[in-house]
Amino acid sequence: MAREVGDPVALDMKTQSTNAFMSGGYALPWAFSPEHDSWKSTLQDFVASRIAPGAAQRTIDERFDPDLALAVGELGAYGLLVPTEYGGQGADLRSLCLATEETAVYDSSMAVTIHVQAISLALLAHLGKDHPDLLLETLPKAVTGEVFISFGLTEPTGGTDAGHIETRAIKQGGDWIINGSKQFITNSGTPFSKYVILFAATGEASGGRSPISAFLVPLDAEGVTVGPLYRKLGWRASDTHPLFFNDVRVPNAALLGEEGRGYAEALRFLTWARLPISAMSAGLVRGCLLDIDRFISERRSFGKPLGDHQAVAFQAAEVAALGSLARVMTYDGAWKYDHGHPIQQEAATAKLLSAEAANKAAYIATGLLGGYGFMEESAATRHYQDARILTIGEGTPEVQKMLIARLLGMGRRL
Ligand SMILES: Cc1cc2nc3c(=O)[nH]c(=O)nc-3n(C[C@H](O)[C@H](O)[C@H](O)COP(=O)(O)OP(=O)(O)OC[C@H]3O[C@@H](n4cnc5c(N)ncnc54)[C@H](O)[C@@H]3O)c2cc1C
Repeated sequence: MAREVGDPVALDMKTQSTNAFMSGGYALPWAFSPEHDSWKSTLQDFVASRIAPGAAQRTIDERFDPDLALAVGELGAYGLLVPTEYGGQGADLRSLCLATEETAVYDSSMAVTIHVQAISLALLAHLGKDHPDLLLETLPKAVTGEVFISFGLTEPTGGTDAGHIETRAIKQGGDWIINGSKQFITNSGTPFSKYVILFAATGEASGGRSPISAFLVPLDAEGVTVGPLYRKLGWRASDTHPLFFNDVRVPNAALLGEEGRGYAEALRFLTWARLPISAMSAGLVRGCLLDIDRFISERRSFGKPLGDHQAVAFQAAEVAALGSLARVMTYDGAWKYDHGHPIQQEAATAKLLSAEAANKAAYIATGLLGGYGFMEESAATRHYQDARILTIGEGTPEVQKMLIARLLGMGRRL
């Protein structure tokens, strides 16, 4: 097959496949309603027309595209979990997982942009439920993408031990004074980035750790500095910066939820947030399979298409199986969440296994593309770059294993 190196747009267009598995992944009819199917079809049209065509070039250029970000807001992806009274869709978790999955088939950078905005808005609606005025002021514009709200937990001293927070908020009169810094914060430096949900230690440590509260901090407040854009291996067209807080004064109204309880409440509430990331892994595997399919059906070796060599077809089959695993694990967890079942084990297991599946699939895909699998304009190369972070963001494999081990009753002090 004559691949046109240097023409990323041509390489990135959607392969129209008549095979239902190829175009939609492993079928899960029990998991979805007709409304989900219709949302998936809307997403696929949007991704094919707006997201896929420029994905390769945006990644190469490390370019967050503001126009595209606004179009995604118009589509309704950011406010899926926001109640309708604040302009959101009031939809379920499966709908959000469909959005991150379908987007990640072509563009993991945009998928994580959606993920972080969607979870931040859902968290704000949850923690701020006693402040309807604040929610009315912030959420409707965030749903459309005119305002981005980031999630500020990780610090330079470590993200896995997330309860060890050095950023500190001290009460002064009716205000809070915040000092500290955050690291690797997605969506914090876009033209729309206006707030961060910031976790800061408040009060004195009892038994070794300070209580942690959540605040909604405007990024234009005096004393806030948005640091330089990180240069990244993957998610290159997403926006990630460090944040610095130097004597930042916010009113007591910026406190979200109960003082000293914000972090614990956020952790409890956000158990489900591993599933849209797991869905991204499922989407990325599908993206790998599409690129493999296109390549091995057109490229020839020893007188026949690559895909007619059994050893090659077996590798494609393995990628399809990995994608099936990721989809089943993701939507089993999301279905259970949407039906009120506990999902701690499901969310950790799906995140762990789907991310590993994505990394294996991307490794196979880049290998099957030969030299093209090492060229930055190939979709498989982009998926390989984007797969690595799927084992890191929303908790490393070790974190997921700690959670699963605890649920098994092992290592209670892990
Ligand atoms: C592109 C990108 C975007 C991100 N976006 C956000 C965001 O929007 N908001 C946010 O708050 N954070 C964000 N993060 C941070 C992310 O959640 C953390 O990087 C992640 O949780 C890991 O934390 P760390 O980098 O500090 O690694 P560390 O915590 O330093 O861990 C380093 C290694 O040690 C291992 N480890 C640590 N403790 C143990 C233990 N007890 N047992 C075994 N192994 C252990 C870890 O698994 C890991 O392999 C982002 C990160 C990246 C790279």
